[in-house]
Amino acid sequence: MTVRSYVHFIDGAERPGASGETIRRHSPAHGAALADFAAGTAEDLDAAVRAAREAFEHGPWRQMAATQKSAILNAWGDLIAADLERLAVIEAEESGKPIRFARGEIEHSVSMLRYAAALGLQLHGEAFENVGPQALGLVSREPRGVVGMIVPWNFPMVTLFQKLPYALAAGCSAVVKPSELTSGTALEVAKLAIRAGLPKGVYNVVTGTGGVVGEAMTRHPEVDMISFTGSTKVGKAIARTCADSVKRVALELGGKAANVVFADADLDAAVDGVLFGYVLNQGEECVCGARLLIEESVADAFVSRLVERTRKIRTGLPLDEDADQAAMIHQAQFDQVMNYLEIGKAEGATVAVGGSRADQGALAKGYFVMPTIFTNVTPDMRIFREEIFGPVLTVTTFRTVDEAVALANDTVYGLGNGLWTKDLDKAILVSRRLRSGTVFVNTFLETSVQMPFGGFKQSGIGRENGIDGLLEYTEVKSTFIKLGERNAVLPHTV
Ligand code: NAD
Repeated sequence: MTVRSYVHFIDGAERPGASGETIRRHSPAHGAALADFAAGTAEDLDAAVRAAREAFEHGPWRQMAATQKSAILNAWGDLIAADLERLAVIEAEESGKPIRFARGEIEHSVSMLRYAAALGLQLHGEAFENVGPQALGLVSREPRGVVGMIVPWNFPMVTLFQKLPYALAAGCSAVVKPSELTSGTALEVAKLAIRAGLPKGVYNVVTGTGGVVGEAMTRHPEVDMISFTGSTKVGKAIARTCADSVKRVALELGGKAANVVFADADLDAAVDGVLFGYVLNQGEECVCGARLLIEESVADAFVSRLVERTRKIRTGLPLDEDADQAAMIHQAQFDQVMNYLEIGKAEGATVAVGGSRADQGALAKGYFVMPTIFTNVTPDMRIFREEIFGPVLTVTTFRTVDEAVALANDTVYGLGNGLWTKDLDKAILVSRRLRSGTVFVNTFLETSVQMPFGGFKQSGIGRENGIDGLLEYTEVKSTFIKLGERNAVLPHTV
């Protein structure tokens, strides 16, 4: 197996890191070496920020007509789509996820790129004709400037493309720090961007660790905004650092979504949605449907069907076309999930299925966890409250609507929730009471690029996708224009 070798991407070209040091990525599924990434330094980051600043201040991108920007972004989408299979293999190998889902991720990224390209055409200001007889008020939206983007490993392409095309469509320049575990696709698509006609310096990638490159980006005075996706812990630290210079900050953080299933739901559909919701991406998913809240009268039958379906989940290697879930990202994440399995058992929850690693046959050398369902889970348990980030579902029963809503909202997070009922009133009234940025009704994890995405409470600040996703990358400017003659305000001084 050849080891892919990468350097940074700065000012339109590949550029080796100043230190010459590299970070090697090994497969989390079988241990083979996959790629070497440059271990970025503050110096590398500074070079990228300077390129982005130069592109923003003096390059053609910011001033370019939206139609031309849109044409370039769409051409970039064409190149990514044409390269889908190669990119999907890189994504699957580095992140450990099944190839089928990696393909879907690249397709979805292209959709967001095309949507942002179209949305950019609509970016406009307002004119106020009612600000006085001899005046005109203009409200314009200007690009924020140089945006630093820090993204995680669980959906390397999607988390990047929820930011990058929107920022570019708004006229910004970007410096991206992907996760040191999954930097391949961010670098690959940077080369395609140049081929599509994106001017140099508009999209730069510096690889390396959060502690070095991420920190340097957050503190850099020439970075106007940080857009971060990752854990709530790191997000809070970034917000604290950004406060020092009042740097704009957008945060997409952790979650602990509930799937609320009422007895009057289409229970076949709900079993399917709840299953998909907790095993997608091995549960390494910010909107993982980690908590099932089920109406007591149907709980036993529902859970036994869910257990039966869970037993049929195929855990496989990332390039196995038939795998439903594959490897956890690395040893530390695997250990974290295994530790939560022990915590759940010690807290008195019952393991209905799973509860251990998966290591048979080809899985012996990797970080695989069996999908696990805990029943008899109460809200005081850590497995109910903390983000596990693995294929682990907790089951808690309720009797009334009020109880269901209280349980769903009993978390510091507020990213997404699902609810299942055939009663229209209940669907709407309960969805209004759920404190989360997204509510899925009679489905789970299904949404569209037009719909803003983001968190209530400690799940984040700001929104991605939709028109809100574009406006995040703009500053509002008011220009008050006096028309005709102006009378002196202090006439005695004339
Ligand atoms: P993480 O917070 O450890 O790392 C995310 C990114 O931040 C990485 O690129 C990392 O290198 C960088 N980083 C780490 N320390 C840093 C620092 N001090 N300064 C600047 N950058 C730093 O998260 P992760 O483990 O990669 O991803 C999992 C987490 O991401 C989960 O909590 C998950 O819920 C969250 N997530 C949220 C969303 C969302 O849209 N809300 C999407 C995906 C993942």
